[in-house]
Amino acid sequence: MVEKPRFIMCICTGECPGFTKLDLWKLINFVRRELDVEYAIVHPQLCVDDGDRFWKDYLKENRKDIVYVVGACDPKMQNKMFKEIFASKGLDIEKQLVSLDLRNMGTEEAMKKVEETVNKVLSKASA
Ligand code: SF4
Repeated sequence: MVEKPRFIMCICTGECPGFTKLDLWKLINFVRRELDVEYAIVHPQLCVDDGDRFWKDYLKENRKDIVYVVGACDPKMQNKMFKEIFASKGLDIEKQLVSLDLRNMGTEEAMKKVEETVNKVLSKASA
């Protein structure tokens, strides 16, 4: 059975100007209701201490079959910020983290990007 991706939206405290065009709840409800994900959740700030603690609690040790799609900021920055915690759980960040930069996007555009990504992840997993 193919594992469905998990979608995590990091909203950068909710005060970052990069996300003012985005209707967070419209996006998250679209993802959880319309897309083939296990579930969709929101975190306020993944790259600070409580974000680290969240990842530590949340990531499943050595489960290399799960892909985490993270809507947030620059993918390179996400990779840098999260690589240690993925490695500490025995996970391969290159294959298991799909980072999306959703800053400065309107809701429809962000929905489309997440939909395309989820579909890509699923088709790769079932290939
Ligand atoms: S991970 Fe990116 S989007 Fe999330 S709080 Fe940090 S800088 Fe902002």
